[in-house]
This record gives sequence, structure tokens and C-alpha cells, in this order.
Amino acid sequence: MNTQPTSNVVNLEPTASAHAAVKTDMLPLIALSHEELRQLLVTQLQTTLDITTLLTLFFKSTQRLVQYASLSYKQAEHEVSVELGVPQEHSINYGLSYQGEFLGHIVFTRDSRFSEQELGDFESVISSLIFPLRNGLLYAAALQSALKDPLTGVGNRFGMQQTLQRDIDTAHRHKQALSVLMIDIDYFKRINDSYGHSVGDLVLVQVAQHIQKQLRSTDALFRYGGEEFLAVLPHTDEQDAMLVAQRLCESIEGLLIKHVQHSIQITASIGCAALTTQETLQRLLQRSDIALYAAKHSGRNQVQLAP
Ligand code: GH3
Ligand code: MG
Ligand code: MG
Repeated sequence: MNTQPTSNVVNLEPTASAHAAVKTDMLPLIALSHEELRQLLVTQLQTTLDITTLLTLFFKSTQRLVQYASLSYKQAEHEVSVELGVPQEHSINYGLSYQGEFLGHIVFTRDSRFSEQELGDFESVISSLIFPLRNGLLYAAALQSALKDPLTGVGNRFGMQQTLQRDIDTAHRHKQALSVLMIDIDYFKRINDSYGHSVGDLVLVQVAQHIQKQLRSTDALFRYGGEEFLAVLPHTDEQDAMLVAQRLCESIEGLLIKHVQHSIQITASIGCAALTTQETLQRLLQRSDIALYAAKHSGRNQVQLAP
């Protein structure tokens, strides 16, 4: 691919004009000047916080200001990636940032080279994108963090509720297997009592990361309560879920958590439950909890299957 100016950093300060709205809705677009179209673009981009919708609006509107065939946008940290149009041979690439905050990379392509005049036009339209894009990224981050446990980084209970309900609906609809594992660290209170709360926190983080690593990418892990985690295993029947649970139980026992001069060893008890026909989320969790309770009562550091 033939890349013209490789990385232009557009680092823009707020301008008064960025917020000036133009009442042009009733006019045929053909009659609008470049500046009026740009003002209209600014107004349109303020109507959404969703990044894909925002870039789709931007893609459609800016076609009237600069000729190009495709747009691709990536912000790896926020895991945002949008591709619009069909990529062509010539490209222009901008790194977007605002007051030191990296907002991602945007690439425009077409089948002929861009002129100097057009590069100026791009910078002008990109300046309209900066604030709406920043707001969209903040919104996406807020949505993400609302679903995550801040200590361990795995899903929180709210995220669990949403994911599990969706997975249960899918499993019922397509008559697919689904299992859950309720995992509770044994005698965790003793760790807090012996080493302090912050070491207890460290243990929770390491156990969460350890469990996450053992699961498949299609499985999901949530912090259900203090030292209790729920693993959701789609497409997994009772037999396979029991194997996963046994493996987890053994690997947690083998995990050595190092902290200064201490090397901490823990065990966990696991309640395993496979979704039955027409079973609700509440009932499935209840059964996995009963199985966990049985594992605790049978001596801990073991897996029990729900009734
Ligand atoms: P059992 O084997 O029966 O599960 O015993 P346990 O000690 O693990 O369970 P118990 O419910 O008696 O105690 C759980 C402890 O977890 C008590 C609570 O202080 C601690 N805990 C809950 N959340 C956190 C947290 O975020 N950080 C730390 N460090 N401790 C926590
Ligand atoms: Mg416990
Ligand atoms: Mg517990």
C-alpha cells in the first residue's frame, strides 16, 4: 500500500467554532458551502456517543468534503476497531491525540494520491471528530468498567447477570449445553488474619488471573462475592464441566502465591452445575451454590456436582 504522510499527529486545542451549530437542516445540501458542511458535520457528530455510529456518520458526511473510499479506525487500549468502505491503494494515516491523551489511529484510502490541499481538508474535518471521539471513548470505558470488578479485573456481578442470562437464553434456544462453576477459596479469612488485608487482595488477584488462564476464550469468569468466583462454560455438558472443575481445583492447590518472604498456598472448593431444560438463571446459581456447600461440608479442596 502506498502511504502518503505516514503519521500526522493532530493535536488540537478546543475552539469556539467546534460548538457552533448551523441551522441548515431544511436546505438542500448542494447549496451549502464547505464551511457550512463542516459546521453541519460538527452538529451531527454531537448526536451520538457510540463510536461505530459516530464514525459511520463521519464517513458519510465527510465524503462531501474530501474524496476518499475507506476509513479505518483503531484504539487498541479501548479495544475499539471500525472499518468502513473498501480499502484502496493510496492511504493517509493520522495519529489522534488530545492534550497528551492518545485517541487512536485513523487511516483514509482511495485509488489516487491525495493532494496537499486535500491533506489540509482532512485535518480540518478530523478536528471536528476529536471531541465527539474523546467523549465516545470515555463512554465506552465507563460502560466497560461498570461490568468489571476493579480489584481483579474479571467481570463483576452485574456483568455476570447480563452475560449469563444471554448465554442461558442462547443455550435454551439452540438446545446447547452450558455449565457453571461456583469457586470459593477455602479458609480465606485466615489469609487476611495472618498476612493482612492487602495480601488477601493480592491472593484474590492472582487466583482470578490463574483461573482465567485455565479457562477457554469462550468461557467467562466473574467475581461473584468476596472470595467467590463464577465461571460460565458455554457448550459444556456436566461431564466436561466436572473435568474442568477437577483440573481447576488441582491447579489452584498447586499455585504458589509469593509475597515478600511468604509463599502462600491455598485451596478452593467448587460447585458444578449443568443447565437443565427450561432452567432459570436463579435456579442454576442456586444449584451450583448447593453443590459448593456440599464440597465445603465434605472437607473442602474438592468438586461436587449439583443435584
Ligand atoms: P470457607 O472455607 O468456609 O469459605 O471459609 P472462608 O474463610 O474462605 O470464608 P468466610 O466467608 O468465613 O470469609 C471470607 C473472607 O473473605 C471474609 C472477608 O473479610 C474476606 N474478603 C471478602 N472480600 C475481600 C476483599 O476484597 N479483600 C480481602 N482481602 N478480603 C476479602
Ligand atoms: Mg471461602
Ligand atoms: Mg465465600
